[in-house]
Amino acid sequence: MIIGDGMGPQQVGLLLSYARQAPHSVIDNRLTALDRMMEQGRLGISMTYTANTLVTDSAASGTQLATGKFAGVEMLGLDKDGNIQENIIEKAKRLGKATGLVSDTRITHATPAAFSAHQTHRGRESSIPEDLLATGADVMLSGGLSYWIPEQASDKKSLLHRQLTRITCNSVEIKSSRKDAKNLLESAQQKGYTLAFNKEQLQQTSGKTLGLFANSGMQNGIVETQFKNEAQHVQPTLKEMTAHALKILEHNERGFFLMVEAGQIDWASHRNDTGLLLHEMLRFNDTLNTVLDWAANRQDTLVIVTADHETGGFGFSYSAEHIPKPDKLPGRAFSDGTLFQPNFNFGNPDVLDKLYAQQLSYRDIFAQFDVLPKNQKTPFKLAELVNRYTAFKITEAQAVKILATENNPFYKAGHSSLGEKTVPKMQVNGAFFVYQQENRENLLAQAVAASQQVVWATGTHTSTPVYVFVNGPEQVLKPFAKILHHTQLGQLAIDAID
Ligand code: MG
Ligand code: ZN
Repeated sequence: MIIGDGMGPQQVGLLLSYARQAPHSVIDNRLTALDRMMEQGRLGISMTYTANTLVTDSAASGTQLATGKFAGVEMLGLDKDGNIQENIIEKAKRLGKATGLVSDTRITHATPAAFSAHQTHRGRESSIPEDLLATGADVMLSGGLSYWIPEQASDKKSLLHRQLTRITCNSVEIKSSRKDAKNLLESAQQKGYTLAFNKEQLQQTSGKTLGLFANSGMQNGIVETQFKNEAQHVQPTLKEMTAHALKILEHNERGFFLMVEAGQIDWASHRNDTGLLLHEMLRFNDTLNTVLDWAANRQDTLVIVTADHETGGFGFSYSAEHIPKPDKLPGRAFSDGTLFQPNFNFGNPDVLDKLYAQQLSYRDIFAQFDVLPKNQKTPFKLAELVNRYTAFKITEAQAVKILATENNPFYKAGHSSLGEKTVPKMQVNGAFFVYQQENRENLLAQAVAASQQVVWATGTHTSTPVYVFVNGPEQVLKPFAKILHHTQLGQLAIDAID
């Protein structure tokens, strides 16, 4: 099961537009892995709502997929009333099959956790490693080391810090997110896991493997694209983690269940960072191609590709800016000298190449801005950084708006994302831009909207039904080609494991 987190039809559409229409598309023969899925596959659509809400989050949606039961928002592995439900990994293990979880976010994050943990809130990330070990998927590859190491590990002078630096070969920052002395890496080793902290160590593992390749989230899709051809890249790519997981899991004669998450499609979409989103979709595409290469010519493998929800309300759109000039056309209907003149700008496909050309995520651009000396944190400097790393230029006047702040209209003391008194000033729909520390990025997206030909409706999720692509033995596919709900989709996947 491959989950594009936040990969609604709109995000799939971006990948397909890029593949087919970008003048210099990097996709071979302009055919995506989804085109390959559909050569013999089937397509369904699925609603993602929870037991009692219109919109879902990844925890509830992942739970509905993993258990086939209606869930409540932000809960993991529980039904809507809060009762523990068996997930697909637990069932597969019960039947003697191998199991695995791969994500380019972190292993304690909502999507992988929904397939392996049972918690009252997704925010209880310090409790999730113990759940993951109790469930015991054979292969777990992602980021999130910080939740596995004791509080004391952050102390650079401690023996533990030095030990961890040594066993991780300096590949991962050693900084704990825990508030206790538990060392879950030791617990994992006691349960027979081999640990891996970089690509090289991963390549040497062959049995039960816990790979934690970043302190928190793994590198983003732009960084991954830039490192793809360098032998020395330290973190494995999502495609490499997936290929390695398959290599380990395929040895089980009773078969396996593997969940792979392309999780940063969602992160790019929350931030309305369209260039980054394209790179995340390409990373998803590469990964799915690897799965399809593995499954080719097999009669015993079901591949399910879906999303947990759409994020951002994204889309290319036509506008009043830069309306093309009248043009001559060779067709006979124009032979009387009539000029072709559309009323609006419907978008030049060159935009797709320019999106691909983005060299740094919006998040990393602002990270560079935020470490500048105070007197250099000016709109002029922000415009310079944006214009250096992206193909969609902004002016100093636009940068002024991006950096404007206001008293937080949604202030809630102690709230994890609404707790700041002063926040970026949103022009419209401020209530839907809830990750307020990130809102400068959403404002940047609004500044380049017309030149990108892109609109973003929200900084959160939408209820848009998502696609379900399935490929595998013909008789298994038919029930998926319907209008489903994610609980039904999850149950079909669970039933397919027997
Ligand atoms: Mg996720
Ligand atoms: Zn999200």
